Amino acid sequence: HLYEVMMYVDNSVNYDRPSSVIYDFQVIIDIIQKSGMKYMVINPTNSVADDSNGKDVERRPPADPSVLMKRPPVVTIMGHVDHGKTTLLDTLRNTSVVKSEFGGITQHIGAFVVTLKSGEQVTFLDTPGHAAFSNMRSRGAHCTDIVVLVVAADDGVMEQTVESIRMAREAKVPIIVAINKIDKPAADIERTKNMLLAQGITVEDLGGDIQAVPISALTGTNVDNLTEAIVAQAEIMHLKADYGGPVEAMIVESKFDTHRGKLATALVQRGTLKKGAIVVAGQAWAKVRSMLCKKRLRRKGVQREKEYKDDSGEPRLNILLKGDVDGSVEALLDVFDTYTSALCRLDIVHYGVGQVSATDVELATLFNAIIYTFNTTLHPAAKTSAEELGVTVKQFNVIYKLVEDVKEEINAMLPHTY
Ligand code: GDP
Repeated sequence: HLYEVMMYVDNSVNYDRPSSVIYDFQVIIDIIQKSGMKYMVINPTNSVADDSNGKDVERRPPADPSVLMKRPPVVTIMGHVDHGKTTLLDTLRNTSVVKSEFGGITQHIGAFVVTLKSGEQVTFLDTPGHAAFSNMRSRGAHCTDIVVLVVAADDGVMEQTVESIRMAREAKVPIIVAINKIDKPAADIERTKNMLLAQGITVEDLGGDIQAVPISALTGTNVDNLTEAIVAQAEIMHLKADYGGPVEAMIVESKFDTHRGKLATALVQRGTLKKGAIVVAGQAWAKVRSMLCKKRLRRKGVQREKEYKDDSGEPRLNILLKGDVDGSVEALLDVFDTYTSALCRLDIVHYGVGQVSATDVELATLFNAIIYTFNTTLHPAAKTSAEELGVTVKQFNVIYKLVEDVKEEINAMLPHTY
């Protein structure tokens, strides 16, 4: 139910004015966000629902209870600053990570799914720190089933712990407490439970019905017990969804990705999202070009975001990619997508299928990019202008060789170490 959705990029855009391309992406994303984070997908067999008044497309009436099926819970992690929300998200994220050869991945995608050994799944909204608060207000509250309240056992209940409790209550979302940092000598679990009691949070040990799990987000101790507790809570909530008919989903995050184009992380709440579907948000619509189910996961997104806060002056390799067919371009984008390094950025400024055109060469000049081709050639006009403008064009017929070459280009840009 959680997907990264890629949308069609309009190929008719005028690349003579690259800023207008970016503007176009931005407008669609803005409209999606301004439409209250809701959108509706009409499957391709249906007609496109275009609401020219900019309002949300009308939602379907509630489904017949007999067609409802179980769905995974959606969890938001909240708590006081420095109590370990980010660390916990990283630990959870890493529990089902497939390591990739080209380096771990690295983007903040807004949400991720953890699959337990039992096969049960839990969706975590990935908005640690203060962002969790505003997220909870703006959209999280609409799609969060369970709040995990992180309380550091050495600090106990603090100001933002109290605020988190208040917000979860207002949203009528049940709380599970993660008593964190139990590896620290100063950790005092009992004191923390009593401080929670003073806030009206009565944990099971003290006769209440709120689950509290002592964990160490840092070492991973008991983190699996925490996910089990979440699944147990979800069981009693009987979370169900209607998997049929047109799709209704919530945009968790949307952005323009230099590798993939217009990208949205969508939490599907009704129906089953399919490739080719038309996505409508207010006046904007787009076609779902590709979907990546968020079980394969992105690592270290949060750390990278921190690392990149000050990214001025870092080396950057810009690439323009042309391939013979959609499949090969997709495969290469997938590989590039796994690239991570704090030392050099890799940006795909443009990609597409077919011969390299003169416009591609102009675009490469603007972005100071290298043109990589896979199983395709240059239009004669492109060849001439590449020579005139001094644009590097590298042609390959084997994917891994192309990737190797990109690696070498990156290495050449890195500062030398001794
Ligand atoms: P956030 O502000 O709530 O996202 O907190 P962070 O995840 O950034 O953690 C704040 C600090 O506490 C970092 O230095 C973490 O390494 C540390 N920390 C988080 N969890 C634990 C834990 O379980 N044990 C210990 N000893 N330190 C932790």
